[in-house]
Amino acid sequence: MHELIADRASAIDASGIRRIFALAATLDNPINLSIGQPDFPVPAKVRDAACEAIEQGHNGYTPNQGHPDLLVRICNWLKTDLGWDAPPVGTPGEHTAMTMVTSGTSGALLLAFMALLDPGDECVIADPYFVSYPHLATMCGAKAVLVDTYPDFKLTASRVEPMLNEKTKFVLLNTPSNPAGVTLSREECIELRDLCAARGVLLISDEIYDEFVFADGQTDACAQQPQTKRCPSPARLDGAAENVLLIRGFGKTYGCTGWRLGYASGPRAVIDEMGKLQQYTFVCAPAPLQLGASACFDADMGEVVKDYQARRDMVVQRLSPMTKVTVPSGAFYAFVQVPQALAMSGTQFAEKLIESNVLVIPGGAFSARDTHFRISFATDPKKLAQGLDRIVDAMK
Ligand code: PMP
Repeated sequence: MHELIADRASAIDASGIRRIFALAATLDNPINLSIGQPDFPVPAKVRDAACEAIEQGHNGYTPNQGHPDLLVRICNWLKTDLGWDAPPVGTPGEHTAMTMVTSGTSGALLLAFMALLDPGDECVIADPYFVSYPHLATMCGAKAVLVDTYPDFKLTASRVEPMLNEKTKFVLLNTPSNPAGVTLSREECIELRDLCAARGVLLISDEIYDEFVFADGQTDACAQQPQTKRCPSPARLDGAAENVLLIRGFGKTYGCTGWRLGYASGPRAVIDEMGKLQQYTFVCAPAPLQLGASACFDADMGEVVKDYQARRDMVVQRLSPMTKVTVPSGAFYAFVQVPQALAMSGTQFAEKLIESNVLVIPGGAFSARDTHFRISFATDPKKLAQGLDRIVDAMK
């Protein structure tokens, strides 16, 4: 059968991260700090709205671009948050920016990569990166060019600039980032946006963790509620709807990763192509869950974010005396350096932790280097504290 398999599949090596999950499966009740999904329940009104949608028979297809009710909520939110005027795909009129619902943030990313990358093209991403990014490029016969962002993990214009060439189609920023929880300042967003505009490449902003930004990372104002502080983003800059492709999701923010819901908004020329590709791939995101997600905009996740900030503080306080920890401003991850004195790779350290029944992901899963490991603090604080104790012991 092997000779039948396409290069786009066989070129992908998923062994690194699978090895840890395979080892994990052998453990009895491990302290699992490897999981990239929230540990709080979906807000009741969101669950109720989804159940009600099923009961009321909203179980068929929705329009490819998304259910009108959800699209209205998303577009209103983009107006409030970013000041964007980006109506749903298909809205008549001379709109330069548009919005569509996607099957998860991953769905939006896949459609964007497919819409933009021809074989031989390049895109530019940070190293460390979210695990899917390089593989999405491979699936398109293209290449993800890695920008070394150690030790602060910021995808700055000065680091990106040398990587741009005539093959580059886009730069993909993830803010707050996975695996480091890092955000850019407003000035850094401006510089990156200006660089992309000057070089004629698209800037994509993956903001799946946009609600998980801690008080110290919130510096910019919400467009229509200036008293509300938000995370800086290139999507917040003047005219951004025309030159930034924004990708956001519901799964992490509202604890419903299995619902597979996200959205994309930005330059019409790109969103229109993504809409066509959606029609012949995903068709539409799950109908009743789209109606559930409409209720997300009425849920206040403020307490959850505060709770995660306290856990972030616990991680930083506990591990900083032992090693280099870049303080995450958002998301629910810390990307921690294995103390150099141990002379161990991230993989070796993760394997050592397995002996103490603790699971983390080695940095090599997210990077060309294997010097760090990722902790997810989306876990019960008591377990997190226990896990941190064992990590500190292993670092001694
Ligand atoms: N982007 C980033 C940065 C992520 O961390 C993830 C999920 N871990 C995704 C996209 C994919 O999210 P979804 O489940 O919505 O497809």
